Amino acid sequence: MLSNGGLPTKYIYLDNAATTKTDPRVNKTIEDYLEDCYGNPSSLHRMGRESSDVVAEAREQVAELIGAREHEIVFTSGGTESDNLAIKGVVRKNKGKHIITSSIEHPAVYNTCKYLEKDGYEVTYLPVDKDGLIKPEDFEEAIKKDTVLASLIYASNEIGTIEPIKELAEIAKDKDVIFHTDAVQTVGKLDIDVKKTGIDLLSISGHKIHASKGVGALYVADDVKLEPMMHGGGHENGRRSGTENVTCIIGLGVACKIERTEMDKNIKKMKEMRDRLIDGIMENVKEVKLNGHPTKRLPNNANFSFKAVEGEALVLQLDGRGIGTSTGSACSSKKLRPSRTLMSIGCGEVEAHSSLRLTLSRFNTIEEIERSLEIIPEVVGNLRKMSPLWEE
Ligand SMILES: *Cc1c(COP(=O)(O)O)cnc(C)c1O
Repeated sequence: MLSNGGLPTKYIYLDNAATTKTDPRVNKTIEDYLEDCYGNPSSLHRMGRESSDVVAEAREQVAELIGAREHEIVFTSGGTESDNLAIKGVVRKNKGKHIITSSIEHPAVYNTCKYLEKDGYEVTYLPVDKDGLIKPEDFEEAIKKDTVLASLIYASNEIGTIEPIKELAEIAKDKDVIFHTDAVQTVGKLDIDVKKTGIDLLSISGHKIHASKGVGALYVADDVKLEPMMHGGGHENGRRSGTENVTCIIGLGVACKIERTEMDKNIKKMKEMRDRLIDGIMENVKEVKLNGHPTKRLPNNANFSFKAVEGEALVLQLDGRGIGTSTGSACSSKKLRPSRTLMSIGCGEVEAHSSLRLTLSRFNTIEEIERSLEIIPEVVGNLRKMSPLWEE
């Protein structure tokens, strides 16, 4: 088997917004379960009960992390399904043909809204300011009699800006609009309490918080009516049919428990590394801009635009030097279109194409950051020497 994905052992992984390393404790729990427990949670016999017990425990662990109640958690196949279920599930079951979202949503929300436009829904895409913040006034003004749902991202997967979610959710509550937020990047990076914040639906993805790919959860508040997308045996309280992905669900539960018990320590560590990274780049590289809000940003996100440098070339060169990074979001990095989020904060096309996103996790170390601060300015300098756009 290839160890470390066949990568050199000293590879520095700074692309944690794309996916994260599964925590060894998650893997261990899954292995132990697989040893001798494989019942169908719907079965009445003891093998089944054992499986349904571990799913129940995981549900409790997910609920606890965000201040929800267990029965308000629906397990899904990931962030994309959670977003789809939230948006389509709400608009199909509740009155109103108008949806409000933002211009900086992840494709899982953005393209679901685009799809619903073809289906006769009207969608307002709220703009953001130069730091990526949604203005609560804009949201309030956009609400109409016919508005059924608002889906606004908690914190940007690209530029890390944390939105004023409490204020936005309060406005929604006031105007009787159901409020969904994609918190895939926010869970574990910020203390979330869905009740205190007034959130009706919230999306979680396992692989962004050190659990497996292909598992996630949607929080659905008690009083929210939701049309299922998967019809079948009526699992998950009729909200999502299909035999539970027990192994991955157990892992998600453990990951949530770890995030909850270690959050303060991990946030502090990520913030220190992030600030060192941002300061180091701003001090040692000329003509560089930090994208996103200077302070209201995720503890693990740094996003830069380097003048006269092509983002894709930078990512490939850094990969060659043993650092994994990304330009724009992972979902758009294989296309040549500039990032919608960067364009929304006022970057020109050239500036958007010169972006580099560095996203950290609790598995990174300050030594890795120091090493990156030696390599990145050097690689940027080399690329600029070859660039016709660069003049000293
Ligand atoms: C990764 C991501 C998703 C999609 O989650 P998957 O589990 O990969 O489907 C949705 N929203 C945001 C903000 C993300 O970063």
